[in-house]
Amino acid sequence: MLSALSLLLVTTALSVVMLFVLSSLKGSGVEGVREWGQGNAMAVLALLLFASRGVLPDVLSIEGANLLFIASVALMLAGFRRHLGQRVPTRPLLLGGAAAMACLVFFHHGVDSLPMRTVAVSIYHFSVYVAIGRTIPASPEPRLRYPYLFTRRAAFVLGTVHACRGIFYALQVGETLRFLEPAPYNLAFFAIGTLALPALTLGAVMMANARVIRETAYAADHDHLTGAWSRRAFFNFAEHEHARAARIGSSLSLLVFDADHFKRVNDTHGHATGDRVLRDIVIHAQEVIRKIDYCARLGGEEFAVLLPDANHQTAMDVAARLRTALDRSLHLAPSTLPVGYTVSIGVATLAPGETLAELMARADAALYVAKADGRNRVVSAPMPPRLVPVPERREWR
Ligand code: GH3
Ligand code: MG
Ligand code: MG
Repeated sequence: MLSALSLLLVTTALSVVMLFVLSSLKGSGVEGVREWGQGNAMAVLALLLFASRGVLPDVLSIEGANLLFIASVALMLAGFRRHLGQRVPTRPLLLGGAAAMACLVFFHHGVDSLPMRTVAVSIYHFSVYVAIGRTIPASPEPRLRYPYLFTRRAAFVLGTVHACRGIFYALQVGETLRFLEPAPYNLAFFAIGTLALPALTLGAVMMANARVIRETAYAADHDHLTGAWSRRAFFNFAEHEHARAARIGSSLSLLVFDADHFKRVNDTHGHATGDRVLRDIVIHAQEVIRKIDYCARLGGEEFAVLLPDANHQTAMDVAARLRTALDRSLHLAPSTLPVGYTVSIGVATLAPGETLAELMARADAALYVAKADGRNRVVSAPMPPRLVPVPERREWR
């Protein structure tokens, strides 16, 4: 037979399971996990104390249990605020919790009224759940959408249930109600109220996992020093754009560029300054290229820019602008000498039937020529020999 006590014990077990799930995120460095863990640990204790009503003294099963439950939802809110980089409203939480506890004590030891105690606690829980719902953005980026919206909606639903519970019990003032009573309304409010924490913890875990996945994907796709696309991401884009260009016959151009005498920069100014130059190169390269172009660090001081839908003339124009933009003096501090640098650029445009590897090789060869010709210049790669139109043969009679 379903009873409030069995519901309490099931929810306690669920909160213990949630603690194990949260433990899997312990070393992840995700903000909020500590508070969510503390919140669930307190909820387990609170639920056990609620379940011991009639066995343990009332001060433990009423005041003790409610105090721990009030603290546990406050910790859940703190966890969500931390996770989302927002300030934790410590003072309102403490004041709200203290007010709820004061009402609870008054309606136990002053005027003993279970409905009024329930109203007081419901107002507190309603406020905290609504605050959790409002903390979570309504339109997050697509990757975070499901976990954010799940948690936000769960928090608002739980807030609404607590509001209904508060109103319902306010209407029962004067009636003699018993805690853990098996009446259907009591069981329904009980089930939803006690399942609140596991549901929010589920949302929290999904949010934390989504964030870890997003950060891992970002790290794999970006160069950690300069923030440009990584080599891995670049070749993914390049393969995709190459297939598209081959399919629809659009243009595709590639610039490969390399900092000139970069070893000298490191030797003269130090490796840290060399790193600043690499970051400066990416910042200024991104100012020159279009939004649809991909700028990547291929390795060391070598970079590439993929230009979809750009013919050879457009690519040469971009390369000329890039070379000028990257012929720079970087002023790092008023007291130190500026660091001058230049780049050499090889430009190649996809020929019909050419593979991506062949296009890369032609751009690389053009870069090599630019270096050999004295650096700080742009060199256009000639079309592949087999694709150069064969002159018509004249028949001599
Ligand atoms: P060239 O004009 O022929 O390209 O000459 P270079 O000196 O630029 O080329 P070289 O290949 O001889 O030297 C490249 C230097 O780039 C050596 C290496 O220490 C430095 N380098 C590679 N990666 C990094 C990095 O992440 N940070 C810094 N500061 N230096 C790097
Ligand atoms: Mg170099
Ligand atoms: Mg190099």
